[in-house]
Amino acid sequence: MVECELLSKCGFFNKHQDSKQAACSGFIAMYCKGAKMDECKRKAYRKEHGVAPSDDMMPTGSMISS
Ligand code: SF4
Repeated sequence: MVECELLSKCGFFNKHQDSKQAACSGFIAMYCKGAKMDECKRKAYRKEHGVAPSDDMMPTGSMISS
């Protein structure tokens, strides 16, 4: 299985991988372990700013609402 190379150090993935929220598990399947991993906004943020975004920023760039 192909996985994002940032998986082990990604705050979103590590915090939300067991989430029961459909949005989280759906995005993990689509981005972290799926075809859209190169379109991840978290990855783009990291590249642009040199630091990781908030753990609650999703691969789409939106924030998880609690
Ligand atoms: S959220 Fe983005 S950076 Fe994090 S593991 Fe998933 S695809 Fe990779």
